[in-house]
Amino acid sequence: MSTSRVLELLERIASLLRSEVRKTSAEDGLEPVHIMSLWYLTQANRFSNNPLAVGEYLGLSKGNMSQRLNVLEQKGLIRKAADNEDRRRVHLEVTKRGLTVLAKNYPPKAWPATATEVSLEKRLDRVLRRMVAENGGRTFGQCRTCRFHQNKADAPYCGLLELPLAPHQANQICLEHEPKIAA
Ligand code: SF4
Repeated sequence: MSTSRVLELLERIASLLRSEVRKTSAEDGLEPVHIMSLWYLTQANRFSNNPLAVGEYLGLSKGNMSQRLNVLEQKGLIRKAADNEDRRRVHLEVTKRGLTVLAKNYPPKAWPATATEVSLEKRLDRVLRRMVAENGGRTFGQCRTCRFHQNKADAPYCGLLELPLAPHQANQICLEHEPKIAA
């Protein structure tokens, strides 16, 4: 298969998925970008659930992202919470209502349940890493796959931020993630 055919397939799949999310989210007065923001916030760790990080993940400017987040807040789908240690820092939390809206819209019904092949995931992950390495940007990978991820006293630990992590955080995505260097 030529590279351009792979690209064509990825574009087509993405377009079908976006089209379905556009349809279902419109029923809630939302756009796909709102749904993807909710999804991101349910996956992000506490270092990454802030307006700047969501904007960076979705490739939106600060102003654009802030408008989208205002809509989510006005609809009661997210709430702002000040950081316990630094009151100037804000965390965005998805409310119960936000989780219900997200579950209704994502993953889209058009996404086949069988599309969870591990080898496909690994190959696409490699493509993403290469694109990030060549073009800059962040991987936003899962914490357990980060080169700073360690285990200390049987618990996950961040070697970059020098902080212990809760077990569930190992599966969350992080703004500071850097892939492990392949052996
Ligand atoms: S180990 Fe990596 S991904 Fe995990 S919190 Fe630290 S920097 Fe983020």
